Amino acid sequence: MENCRKCGRPLQPLEIGATRKFINRGAEEFFCLSCLAAEFKVTEALLLEKIEHFRKQGCTLFD
Ligand SMILES: [Zn+2]
Repeated sequence: MENCRKCGRPLQPLEIGATRKFINRGAEEFFCLSCLAAEFKVTEALLLEKIEHFRKQGCTLFD
């Protein structure tokens, strides 16, 4: 189980995929959606929208 690098929260697979998608495909340290949203100064809802968009496009990070 991976934990958020910033706040230590246990991560969902979706959050690991999101870190790879939004920060770095080869990332080995991961962030939860809250910390990703803070990093990019957007809402978690917006990140989820984008994730859903990528998922529909068939992005394998969000299988
Ligand atoms: Zn976090």
